[in-house]
Amino acid sequence: KKIIITIDGYSSCGKSTLAKQLAKRLDYIFIDSGAMYRAITLYFLDNKVDIQDPTTIESALAKIQLEFKNNNHTGQSDIWLNGENVEKAIRTMKISNHVSEVAALEAVRHYAVSQQQAMGEKKGIVMDGRDIGTTVFPKAELKIFMTASIEVRTHRRYDELKPKFPDISLEEVKENLLKRDLIDSTRKISPLRQAKDAITLDNSKLSMPQQLDIAAGWAAE
Ligand code: C5P
Repeated sequence: KKIIITIDGYSSCGKSTLAKQLAKRLDYIFIDSGAMYRAITLYFLDNKVDIQDPTTIESALAKIQLEFKNNNHTGQSDIWLNGENVEKAIRTMKISNHVSEVAALEAVRHYAVSQQQAMGEKKGIVMDGRDIGTTVFPKAELKIFMTASIEVRTHRRYDELKPKFPDISLEEVKENLLKRDLIDSTRKISPLRQAKDAITLDNSKLSMPQQLDIAAGWAAE
């Protein structure tokens, strides 16, 4: 029987990496909810949307179309914004520095959450994010809450970004993670919380295959 699996946690805990692998092993669909908030942020920045003005936000959201499409080269699912593949464009420090403010807006959350819930109607999905187990799929059959030390998280994100952005510093990456964690866990609408029925997975000291075995074991229970 196919189920819904949610993976939540702070920034750069390795949620997407695990979610991708788990979806592959179970032959499920993987959905990166953070990519949706990043793509919305990209649109807002490119179009100079004033996030203080609710009317402007609403009309901007009405012009946004998000899709996940399979990439034949990488075998992964990329996010498309208004017909353009923005998978690369959303993974920059500039987007990371603005996304949490945008994701805290009520209209933005409403927009993203309703689309995420529609994707869940199919079952057989693994979705990672911040509020998936609490708000998007409160009835999900398996909820995982991932944690890792700030050092592990900083180094992981730094190693990911350094080849593409040689000027980046460890300090800058750490600051961004802490800032996002703070905004994400203190915002008014569906703040980042561990769902009561979520199982904690601390991956500070676990290899990818180990995490995958643990999570797949839970999924099979
Ligand atoms: O997962 P990722 O780090 O790409 O998410 C980027 C940002 O999007 C998070 O820092 C958070 O502000 C927002 N987000 C959210 N709710 C989700 C997923 C992401 O608010 N379910």
